[in-house]
Formats: sequence, structure tokens, C-alpha cells
Amino acid sequence: MEKLIENLNDFLGKVAEAKARYSVNRDIHIVAAGKFRTVPELTTVFSTGKIDAIGENRVQEFRDKYTPDLTWDIIGQLQTNKVKYVIGKVRLIQSLDRLNLADEIQRVAAARGVVQQCLIEINSGSEESKGGIEAEDLSEFVKRLSDYPNIKLRGVMAVAPRGIAEDKLIGCFSKARDAFLSICDVPDFDILSMGMSEDFPIAIKCGSNLLRPGRILFDGASSIIK
Ligand SMILES: *Cc1c(COP(=O)(O)O)cnc(C)c1O
Repeated sequence: MEKLIENLNDFLGKVAEAKARYSVNRDIHIVAAGKFRTVPELTTVFSTGKIDAIGENRVQEFRDKYTPDLTWDIIGQLQTNKVKYVIGKVRLIQSLDRLNLADEIQRVAAARGVVQQCLIEINSGSEESKGGIEAEDLSEFVKRLSDYPNIKLRGVMAVAPRGIAEDKLIGCFSKARDAFLSICDVPDFDILSMGMSEDFPIAIKCGSNLLRPGRILFDGASSIIK
């Protein structure tokens, strides 16, 4: 477990380096991608107070690991019939990407008397995350969601394809950022979730303020082959 703290501090050092390199002053938040990691591992990382939440991809895994002692986000594709298991238990659903999912989130959140915060996932051509709306459709989608009283939209999430050339990666992240920045009339629409173990420095360069590192935290920087 000591190794985990070392990895985290190492990663935060790299984040600080990237901020300096690209003259970035904004705060950068961290959500640790928790897939396949144990609750003790997640607790060790979360207890440092240096990360905002644990991000889980699969609802079943989230249910198996859930404890109210940690703060959780959903970062993977969410099936409509699983919404009932996460509403009120997760800080953010980062992968809102279709109207029927919004309908179900609204329905369950209203029934439980809670407001669910969500990010809209933008499709950037990633295999890892086949969901997401087209960047061009963001403003229309946001408009449609403006009359869902139990959904609070907080921003945008994007997953870049793995292993693409830097110019392509910049293109991908910039497209998501531009779409995010074009939404000016929604209060607190201020989270841009981009960047994982391999691509977080470029995500920082391109405007991200929330990173979702997984392997670099739990397996260490030496496990990341670019
Ligand atoms: C797995 C995953 C991550 C973390 O990926 P790493 O490459 O291990 O850092 C981040 N976001 C999503 C949506 C993921 O599925």
C-alpha cells in the first residue's frame, strides 16, 4: 500500500510538471479509475485526500465494492436498467450520452428526491468507450436536458482512442474542449473530464480540469508503455 501512495505522489508531480510546461494555472481534479482494484487499494488512495472520487466502469463492480466511506463516479457506459443502482450513491455520472438514459436518471432521481449531477460524454472515436454524442450535437442535447429538474449538468467527459499520434490526440481533446466551452448559459457547467494514464499531459494542455488515471496510479508509471 505504501507503493500506492508513492505512485500517487509521483503522478501528482507529473501533473504539476505538465501544468508548468503548458502554463496552466487552473486546479486539476483527479478521479482514480477503480476497475479491477480492491476496496483496500481504493481506500488507500482516497484516504490521502488528494483525489476527488473513485470512477467505476461497470455497475456490477460498483455494487460489489460500494461503501459510503468513499466518493464514487460512474465513468463507463451506463445501461438504462442499471440506473436504479447508482442514483443517490454516485457524485457524478460522467457518461450521460443519450436521451433515454436521461429519462431514466430523471425518473429515478425524482422518485428518490435527489438531483443527480452528470457529465455529457462526447464521442471521440475511442474503442474503449463506444458511447458518446457527437461534439456537434452537444448544444442541442444540453438544450433538450434543460427541463429535467432532477438532472444537473456539470460538464463534459471524453475518452481519447489509445495510442494515436499526438496531433490526432490534440485534435480529439480540442474538439471536446471547444464543444464544452460553447455552452455558456448553463450554471456550474464547469467540469471537463479528459486524460488517462497515457494521455493526461496532452489533456492538461487541451483544457482538462479532471483527470481519470488508472494504471499509472495502481501499477505505477513504469507500467505505462507509450
Ligand atoms: C480504464 C479507464 C480509465 C483509466 O485508464 P488508464 O489507462 O488505466 O489510466 C479512465 N477512464 C475510463 C472511462 C476508463 O474506462
